Amino acid sequence: MFGKLWQYLSFDIGIDLGTVNTLVLVKGKGILIREPTVVALHKKTRQILAIGTEAKRMIGRTPAAIEAIRPLRDGVISDFDTTEAMLRYFIHKVHETPGKGFWSLPKIPKPRVVVGIPSGVTEVERRAVQDACLVAGARQAYLIEEPMAAAIGAKLPIEDPEGVMIVDIGGGTTEIAIISLGGMVLNRSLRVAGDEMDEEIINYMRTRYGMLIGERTAEEVKIEIGSAFPLNKDEGATVIRGRDLATGLPKSIKVTASEIREALTPVVSQIVGAIQEILEETPPELLTDIVDRGIFLAGGGVLLKGLDKKIAEETKLPVYITDDPLTTVVRGCGEVLNNLDLLSKVKVTGGLR
Ligand code: ADP
Ligand code: MG
Repeated sequence: MFGKLWQYLSFDIGIDLGTVNTLVLVKGKGILIREPTVVALHKKTRQILAIGTEAKRMIGRTPAAIEAIRPLRDGVISDFDTTEAMLRYFIHKVHETPGKGFWSLPKIPKPRVVVGIPSGVTEVERRAVQDACLVAGARQAYLIEEPMAAAIGAKLPIEDPEGVMIVDIGGGTTEIAIISLGGMVLNRSLRVAGDEMDEEIINYMRTRYGMLIGERTAEEVKIEIGSAFPLNKDEGATVIRGRDLATGLPKSIKVTASEIREALTPVVSQIVGAIQEILEETPPELLTDIVDRGIFLAGGGVLLKGLDKKIAEETKLPVYITDDPLTTVVRGCGEVLNNLDLLSKVKVTGGLR
């Protein structure tokens, strides 16, 4: 009875708490928030000064007393208070957005929440996220694993007995999973993804050109000319600006797409290698299904040019990038809010407090 009442007073929301981006979807309204998973803290007092977009603006230019951190950088929730503060901020923010007609009435921020978490997290971390949701105001909090959320968001037939394979390459983690009958048959969470690509570009510029570049520059270079596979003959080049390590002075260097591809090779090989290992461990019947259906890719990291081709070439399987790969996980979380049967099948933990 109260459950029904709450449905009118509050929202049902899905949250993708990613290592780089946090997305929030409100049932019936769509994706209302896409902000970086960044928190700005006072160095001494650890007081939280800003969250999301506002906090990201502070990275690299914060005064000495302020520190901008990415609390989920490695896919693990290391700090309960920060996680709780972030969840509270996002939950309250979506409840402030005005709606139409009846929906314009102020809402009480006591939602039902479905959160996507990396498949590698421990029981203790799961509890921490669930408790953080409840402390942050959620009336019910369910956790589902990101690869499952991604597969549901990609509208893959996860409840079929035939196997499906999904690979979600984010910033901090790559999640690889084989799903069948609504459960994960095999999965691996790798702490190598988009961030590591940026780091390889930074390392390359340092060792090859004696030049120091920042993380943001490295990411821009990756997005502009980075690739995993040679796509055409004339691939272009870009000018990278940084600091000469010997003189300490500003310096500009022109680098080609093939140099950046070379720099990214170790990361790409690790991701491809992990996919191959999972395929080797897959039971024969499921493997046959995956050979027929192919591998599905989600997450921002799959936007690296030619990565789909590289995976296809190395595995000899068809490879597909899901529609709008940056929102696949949150759309999957939203989908299970509409389908309680599915939710009870795929949730790893959650329910009433
Ligand atoms: P997470 O789920 O871990 O928050 P996302 O799925 O949001 O991560 O993906 C973020 C990663 O995707 C970052 O490393 C970012 O640099 C990378 N990325 C986004 N767009 C592109 C692009 N066009 N090319 C290559 N990498 C990209
Ligand atoms: Mg993600």
